[in-house]
Amino acid sequence: MPELPEVEALAAFLQENAVGHVLARADLAAVQAIKTFDPPLSALGGLEITGAGRHGKFLDLDVSGVHLVVHLARAGWLHWRENLPTAPPKPGKGPLALRVHLDSVDSPPARGFDLTEQGTRKGLAIYVVRSPSEVPGITRLGPDALQVDREDFARLMAGRSGQLKGALTDQTLISGIGNAYSDEILHAARLSPFKGADKLKDDELVRLFDAMRTTLTEALERQRGQKAATMKGEKRSGLQVHARTGLPCPVCGDTVREVSFADTSLQYCPTCQTGGKPLADRRMSKLLR
Ligand SMILES: [Zn+2]
Repeated sequence: MPELPEVEALAAFLQENAVGHVLARADLAAVQAIKTFDPPLSALGGLEITGAGRHGKFLDLDVSGVHLVVHLARAGWLHWRENLPTAPPKPGKGPLALRVHLDSVDSPPARGFDLTEQGTRKGLAIYVVRSPSEVPGITRLGPDALQVDREDFARLMAGRSGQLKGALTDQTLISGIGNAYSDEILHAARLSPFKGADKLKDDELVRLFDAMRTTLTEALERQRGQKAATMKGEKRSGLQVHARTGLPCPVCGDTVREVSFADTSLQYCPTCQTGGKPLADRRMSKLLR
């Protein structure tokens, strides 16, 4: 799932490669992905791309005042292409959601990008709006994880009941962090994902804030300058606990463990984060019963 560092790096990539070019045509292949109808997608055709940015995990392409806003969800990605086919794609087939042609549809180089989404559960969302604030998910965003200061962060956590894992990934509280980097941040802060957000002591709050900044900044440094195609591999190579169930913790050597939920899971290190005690995993204990 693309999170703050990946979306920020994609925006930087588009600033370098798409801004200053005309958006010649946008072909919609996944009809369910588009969430708006006015202005229509065709309104983007022929306009110059004037900016690329990010709001939380939303990617925002400014096309001369009309915004193409994308949420890549769990399995969405952007593929830069130098040889796009001219013919419009067949809707509803394969992972392609949206194809964007730059400069010209017909004359080479047929440059542009594909937005794709793997899997059967489709969550990728596309909005064509006059202002990003027309996107409900953007209006609800809490302060950006790389912008929020320590005092505001402490205040937000103190006002939040419930577990840290849920607090860090709640976009309305703090925006930009998803399943992978929340695992990484909690590991770096040596805090249990199940600890109550409003139960943090001062030194724990400082550790969590610093871990958030460091983890995201380091990930961003690794992603920056990567081509869109290599970012996912780069993300994986930097992870300490996320998606590493059963492997040794790089810090202490203990075995990384997992807690499974209905449609997601989290990973953590017992020695680093939970005083050596494994957390209860409902699915596992059900199986063992
Ligand atoms: Zn460890």
